[in-house]
Amino acid sequence: MEQKMTEQEFVATFDEAAANHHLMVFYQPQINHATGRMVGAEALLRWRHPAKGMQFPSDFIPVLEKNNLIYQADLFVFEEVCRLLRKLINEGDMVVPISVNMSRYDIYGHSYVADIEEIRKKYDIPVKYIHVEITESSAIGGKDLIIQVMDDLHRVGYLVEMDDFGSGYSSLGVLKDLPVDMMKLDMRFLQGNIGGRGGTIINSIVQMCKWLNTPVIAEGVETQDIADFMKTIGCKYVQGYLYSRPLPEDEFLAFLASVDHEPLSASSGMVDAMNNMNFWNPDSLENLIFSNFVGPAAVFVYENGNVEILRVNEKYLKEIGMSRTEQEILDDNPWDNHTAESRDTYRHAIEKAIKTGEEVTCENWRTVCSDICGENKICVRSTLRLIGQASDQYLIYAMVQNITAEKERFMLAEQDENRFKAAFEHANVYAWEYTIATHEMRPCFRCMRDLGLPPIVKNYPDTAIEAGIFPPEVADMYRALIRDIDNGRDNIDVIIPLTVGRVPFHVRYTTEFDENGKPLKAYGSATLVVDQKDAE
Ligand code: C2E
Ligand code: CA
Ligand code: CA
Repeated sequence: MEQKMTEQEFVATFDEAAANHHLMVFYQPQINHATGRMVGAEALLRWRHPAKGMQFPSDFIPVLEKNNLIYQADLFVFEEVCRLLRKLINEGDMVVPISVNMSRYDIYGHSYVADIEEIRKKYDIPVKYIHVEITESSAIGGKDLIIQVMDDLHRVGYLVEMDDFGSGYSSLGVLKDLPVDMMKLDMRFLQGNIGGRGGTIINSIVQMCKWLNTPVIAEGVETQDIADFMKTIGCKYVQGYLYSRPLPEDEFLAFLASVDHEPLSASSGMVDAMNNMNFWNPDSLENLIFSNFVGPAAVFVYENGNVEILRVNEKYLKEIGMSRTEQEILDDNPWDNHTAESRDTYRHAIEKAIKTGEEVTCENWRTVCSDICGENKICVRSTLRLIGQASDQYLIYAMVQNITAEKERFMLAEQDENRFKAAFEHANVYAWEYTIATHEMRPCFRCMRDLGLPPIVKNYPDTAIEAGIFPPEVADMYRALIRDIDNGRDNIDVIIPLTVGRVPFHVRYTTEFDENGKPLKAYGSATLVVDQKDAE
């Protein structure tokens, strides 16, 4: 029967427990839920009293903290971890990084980094195999000290994890101030509530970590449902009863030998100089730049063909917001505003930006709906650039420009041109047939209408000359041309000023011959000369 030890017993027997292996370290595996491979483990302290049985940290850690014994306990765990790692290395076994817990009391009045370094060197363990977990509570009473310890840890090369992230309400503030490399989200705070507000909060924390390019480990994961949910929102690392309880050393070694391993993909660093950490800080230079000095811009995450907008600046709202608020835009599924075709164009541009790492520009019509403006069609030119990446999620910076007016002007101009072309083709081309043997001309409908000609014009071209279609000064020249056709000229291409207005027309003839080469008919046309080049 297990029995709880009293506070006095813990304090009085601590040294004895450490010396007699009543204190021991258990290890809980951390698994990539997407691959089933092991990425690391966490070292957790256990106290097994010879008579009273297993004691749990929730009972003795606060006691050790209160009685100034936690530092010794943490160094004990650290040394145990080094001893285990040395054993694995010596035996040539697979080694995974092991996380140790640092109490917030370890930073007061102790030289934590110097002391763990001494132990690590004694066992000659590469620093990459040890991660240090800190809690948000370390920043209680001032951030300076914990930041200094973290800087010291980083200088040596330790990876620092933020334990129990999201359990306190100061989380977001702490996150942007503390230079953590990895986040541990405790799912026990969620209490299975992934569908509701809890899920939304977890989702936004994970999104934010992605934006910061900080890997997230979900801990306290007991069910497949939660692990799956975490995977869908982009957090694949899992520590919890679903995969394994904390295991005593021998069982842990057996577990380690039974699964494949892979490295935890840690921060790879943002592609751009835009310091993402500062980007979220309302007082930071980056935020100031984003809000005030760059043009209309948005930042979004692209994953598996979907787009989720993370931020838009004021100018974006003015440019293409169409009276929507930032929140309305963030809540929207951006694809809803696009036609299928426009979506493809945009997706294609995003994928090109991802592949090339270069700026890619595209133009899309979107239908935007807002309470004030109702439905509007706008054309947006977007210049896209990849600024970050975490697994298959891509962070894209989009500069936008509302080119609706420009587009509409262009379309009008295009319409004008089309109208003109149509007019040109349909109204300003005159065609006719001239029969050489009879000197008869059969005009097209437009010739009849515009020039007042009968269906058959006899004694051509004199009748037309007399009707004033050919002004007197070109009459002789024109008669000569028709004579040429009568005599077998196969084509004519001249510019002749026609009618009293002497409007220049391009006059062309093509002659048709019979089998013996005798000219039969000539097909004439006249088109208005629109371009000076044509007139030359
Ligand atoms: P923690 O660092 O958040 O450790 C995770 C705790 O969650 C462990 O409890 C672990 O056994 C438990 N856990 C893991 N998976 C699950 C799960 O799926 N469901 C549930 N319900 N629980 C799960 P444990 O070992 O009792 O440790 C409790 C706390 O004591 C730790 O929380 C940590 O804050 C502290 N602690 C443990 N070992 C040390 C240590 O060596 N040094 C310091 N300073 N604190 C320690
Ligand atoms: Ca921990
Ligand atoms: Ca934790």
